Amino acid sequence: MISSSTDAVSEHIRLLTPDLVTLRQHLHQNPELSDCEEETSRLVAERLDRLGIRTRTGVGGFGVVADLGDDRSGPRLALRADMDALPILEENEFPYRSNNPGVMHACGHDGHTAILLGVADVLHRRQGELPGPVRLIFQPAEETVGGAARMCADGVMEGVAGVVALHGWLELPAGHVGVRGGPSMASADTFDITVVGRGAHAACPHLAVDPIVIASRIVLSLQSLVSREIDPLEPAVVTVARINAGTAYNIIPATAAIAGTVRTLNASVRDQLERAIRRVAEGECAASGAACELRYTRGVPPVVNDRALAELVADVATACVGADAVTDDLIPSMGAEDFAVYQAHAPGVMFRLGIGDGPSGHTSRFDFNDAAIPVGVEVMSRLCLQGLRPRSETEI
Ligand SMILES: [Zn+2]
Ligand SMILES: [Zn+2]
Repeated sequence: MISSSTDAVSEHIRLLTPDLVTLRQHLHQNPELSDCEEETSRLVAERLDRLGIRTRTGVGGFGVVADLGDDRSGPRLALRADMDALPILEENEFPYRSNNPGVMHACGHDGHTAILLGVADVLHRRQGELPGPVRLIFQPAEETVGGAARMCADGVMEGVAGVVALHGWLELPAGHVGVRGGPSMASADTFDITVVGRGAHAACPHLAVDPIVIASRIVLSLQSLVSREIDPLEPAVVTVARINAGTAYNIIPATAAIAGTVRTLNASVRDQLERAIRRVAEGECAASGAACELRYTRGVPPVVNDRALAELVADVATACVGADAVTDDLIPSMGAEDFAVYQAHAPGVMFRLGIGDGPSGHTSRFDFNDAAIPVGVEVMSRLCLQGLRPRSETEI
């Protein structure tokens, strides 16, 4: 049930929302690329300071960390927002469009940052009601997948019993909440294959070891990995995204380069695909007398949501917005998120905040939907006020 204290939370958020919308639009207007979030970081720290919240700045780059309710005895919960923008020239025409040409908040991290600052506002006045301490993590460089690892290396997950983040989601109506326990987003690795053949005059193919033909075979063979070698019930993607070779009509080049990405929801499928890509590339090259240079680079692991935490988010969200606006078995995405890095340190859940229909993320017309802000603030705030107690003791 919702107590009078949580009614006060709703009222607090209602009064706070116009300011958070202004803040979100200010962030949208002043986007900064990954690892350049200097002003955003300064603004976040200033807002927290003004609330009287102790902060650490310069964490993992331009990261900001704030601790609330340090004297509370329960397990510590961490909430994470990402702050960086993307290298896109914004084509929106509203007054708060980007002031920084070629840089744009096209993934909604402006919304995530504003929401977490709203949570800070709600919780700092209620520190005495928190069952356990809360750590707010404002992370740089999510889009380039470096920020989370550096934040963790700087110790932000020390003593954290659970970690939560949200991401705006166009596939859900504004203000709806979606979550799922278990695999939720994909691992993202990259591969670079160079076929080293032998160049020759294009009129003398018998003198060459043609890397273009070999590279073509590799591309085709890679198409069979997911369809013929991976369990059909396991989602996986192998995409060749780039192929480069040659300079002229009449030259067989000496090398051809192939690059692409691998996405999986499962660590063993990830291992299996890495081995298979190596086997196919080296095998095709060897069969044709070419040498193979292969670099397989591991990016982020899959986001695997803790099932109990996912259930808790669904319950809290239901109390906030009603069962009709909550999906607890959201379809996984083959996109990737460096939130997975935090989950290596503590059970975690990333849930989706509906922002309704609109232009796709990572495109020049995207915008975060401000109508979702109070819902994001409310779900995260109530999650902290409820805490990570065993479910039998919980009461919403
Ligand atoms: Zn993004
Ligand atoms: Zn994002």
